[in-house]
Amino acid sequence: MHWSKTPQELFRNFGSDEHNGLSQEAYAAAWKKFGPNNLTESKRVSRFFLFFKQFQNMMTGLLLLAAGISFFLKEEIDAMAIFAIVILNGVVGFIQEAKAEASIAALKKLSTPKAKVIREGKVKVVESTEVVPGDLLTLEAGDYIVADAVVIHGYQLAADEAILTGESMPVEKSSGVVKAETNLGERTNMLHSSTALTSGSGKALVVSTGMETEIGKIAGLLDATKSEETPLQKRLAKVSNKLLVLGLAVMIIVGIIEYTKGNTWLDIFMLSISLAIAAIPEGLPTIVTLALALAVRRMSKRNAIVRKMNAVETLGSTDVICTDKTGTLTTGDMVVREVFAPSPENKDKLNLAAVACNNASLDNGGSGDPTEIALLKMAEGTPAPERIHEWSFESNRKRMSVAVAAENGVNIYSKGAPEAILPLCGFSEEGKSEAEKIMREFSMKGRRTLALAWRSLKDFDVNHPPAHGDVEKNLQFLGLVAIADPPKEETVPSISVCKSSGIKVIMITGDHPLTAEAIAKELGIIGKDITGQVMTGAELDTINAEELSRRCENILVYARVSPEHKLKIVEALQKNGHTVAMTGDGVNDSPALKKASIGVAMGRAGTEVARQASSMVLTDDNFATIVHAVEEGRAIFGNIKRTIQYLLSTNLAEILIVLGSSLAGMPVPFVPLTLLWINLVTDGFPSLALAAEPVAKDFLKKSEGPSPASFFDEGFMKEMFLVAFLMTIIELSVYFYLLKTGDEITARSCAFHLLVYLALFRSFSCRSENRIYTQLPFNQFHILSVIIPIILQVFLETNSSFRELFEISRINFTTHLLLMLLALIPVSLIELRKVLRYRENNA
Ligand code: ADP
Ligand code: MG
Repeated sequence: MHWSKTPQELFRNFGSDEHNGLSQEAYAAAWKKFGPNNLTESKRVSRFFLFFKQFQNMMTGLLLLAAGISFFLKEEIDAMAIFAIVILNGVVGFIQEAKAEASIAALKKLSTPKAKVIREGKVKVVESTEVVPGDLLTLEAGDYIVADAVVIHGYQLAADEAILTGESMPVEKSSGVVKAETNLGERTNMLHSSTALTSGSGKALVVSTGMETEIGKIAGLLDATKSEETPLQKRLAKVSNKLLVLGLAVMIIVGIIEYTKGNTWLDIFMLSISLAIAAIPEGLPTIVTLALALAVRRMSKRNAIVRKMNAVETLGSTDVICTDKTGTLTTGDMVVREVFAPSPENKDKLNLAAVACNNASLDNGGSGDPTEIALLKMAEGTPAPERIHEWSFESNRKRMSVAVAAENGVNIYSKGAPEAILPLCGFSEEGKSEAEKIMREFSMKGRRTLALAWRSLKDFDVNHPPAHGDVEKNLQFLGLVAIADPPKEETVPSISVCKSSGIKVIMITGDHPLTAEAIAKELGIIGKDITGQVMTGAELDTINAEELSRRCENILVYARVSPEHKLKIVEALQKNGHTVAMTGDGVNDSPALKKASIGVAMGRAGTEVARQASSMVLTDDNFATIVHAVEEGRAIFGNIKRTIQYLLSTNLAEILIVLGSSLAGMPVPFVPLTLLWINLVTDGFPSLALAAEPVAKDFLKKSEGPSPASFFDEGFMKEMFLVAFLMTIIELSVYFYLLKTGDEITARSCAFHLLVYLALFRSFSCRSENRIYTQLPFNQFHILSVIIPIILQVFLETNSSFRELFEISRINFTTHLLLMLLALIPVSLIELRKVLRYRENNA
């Protein structure tokens, strides 16, 4: 057992080295032996399988049955034509699905965690899948553990292993050896794959990867990685079923009528099958997947990496965005603007404190915490003293301290939020009130204000450093610094777009309420009157969940909060029915990120743990990107909705036309093959273009509000029935008129073309819910999706064998034009309706 071996043994076993990690050759050998570090055996669906999957649906079954029967009855040509349609349908489905699959695979790749390993003596950032046993990990708080590893060095290491052991408190980890029979929860020298490092830093040697890790052994977990149907896809499956039932009902009615008219069972059977096929919008699930996948791709181009497909849907209905201030709304390029040092002779000491109590560096443009970089720049030139110990910054404590060597004993330097430092300092009454007054002045200008202090300490044992509570007292106040952190350029316009489109923006910050208030005003989050709009973490602690959910509707700024408060805030908002997006970057933010409807992690500044807990990652850490993503989410919802509108209204029309002609005692205008053809060209082409409709500029600004939970609102149903009835009336009027005045074959031919035109043209009014066609940007795909079927139609008509097959004759050009004009009626009426509705709303 790895945990019962000494590091020397382990390094020897794995051919690795304590300082340099694996060599290139050793790595190559290990890779060959162990393969990629994946939790699931990569079961990529083969292209071949994907193609055949297209034929595993009910519609194909029905079609093949129809083909079989035709063949049996020596109607070989019919049988072959039906077969060709099956193949064509399969090809279309395959292309759609392969495209969707590829996008999803690319997405998965973007969201795999990263790890820092030492190879050939150099630290490298690699994809978790590339880690092998023998790799030496370098770790810091906030890292996600990508494999099982033995701790080699550790400083205050602790890991959250709840996923493995159910233990919710972080467990301390350190180097050492434990007995072989020690159970999982007590292996204090092991770090386990898929757990999170909550504090400390250190190095660990990877001993198992992939399915060999403890998490890999838990079989049940594997199901969680299966791609699940999104809620939307589930809902649409239900709709498809309803239509199927409707189709079946019509089938039975038509069947009975046709039987009484003396048609053979076979004719009736074939007609029924065609009708069922016309009624099922079989492409719907794939179209939804494709639309979502396209949206995901567009979002990734706009700096938002969506980690879970259903996040796209949820984004569309997001109505509250809770966002961190620092680095998300603001640039995070912090600069010290003002310094207050009560006694000028302390200025040097203040600079010393600023560089000593600091983990950042000014190398290559500055790295580390922006607050600390600002302090380093302020004190540039002051050499950093040698540090003996650090009591790290914690967002609940809101301060940090260090011990540095001094002549007699050590000097302690502390910095932090004024409230967290001033009470620890010895002060005269005036001194204290002056410092507090200055602090308020700084804060009211929107500055992030930090206090610095120091003390000397005689006895200090490096090996047993005291707890922070024992050193952070009796400090001597050195001064205050005011740090400016200007808003990002895009922030203000983004917030105003949110406001006008029904999204509430809530700012969450660890900064002082006065600072928060000033910035929130500058950003337009709050206005002049702020009663009840700002709440502090301290206040949050005093109220219970009920009271918070009552008051949270008004609160727009939470100040001086810790990550734990974020969870409380999300819960309160969700209780009130909101769909909440919440940003976060630290380890402690993960519960809130998981709980939020959309957890948004930072791609640059955040921890890997936060990223793994989120459903979306911002590669530019920018608030505006969240707003873009919401925009995409809403747009995609609209695209899907209108694609469904198109499919359902035309399919319904087809059902009604067959039913209508049958009820009127007329011969049904179509042979089964015609119905299949119409289904293929009208369902297949425009619906694809509609689902992929690009997002209009300023979409969000003009959109009406968060996507509702349901597609099938009153307006949707009204439009669907209106169009279906209109199409049916036009189609049947023309057909009946021609039957009366001419021969049946011309009537059938015209009915065939007319229905195709009606359906294709119908798609012109489905590109937008509220805007008329001429207001929309040109979409060449949509135009093509209408023109290609028309060309196919012409081809069909000019070919004599096809004419025979479809039982149609050639009709002249003028008649075609006339049919097209008639086919424009329903679209024109829908477009007119949009105009009238617009006038009404703006009257
Ligand atoms: P935010 O949510 O705005 O990033 P933080 O929780 O990071 O807020 O910080 C809260 C407060 O803690 C700040 O207003 C500041 O006074 C103090 N602070 C921030 N960073 C540091 C640091 N590195 N060292 C000491 N104090 C800090
Ligand atoms: Mg911070």
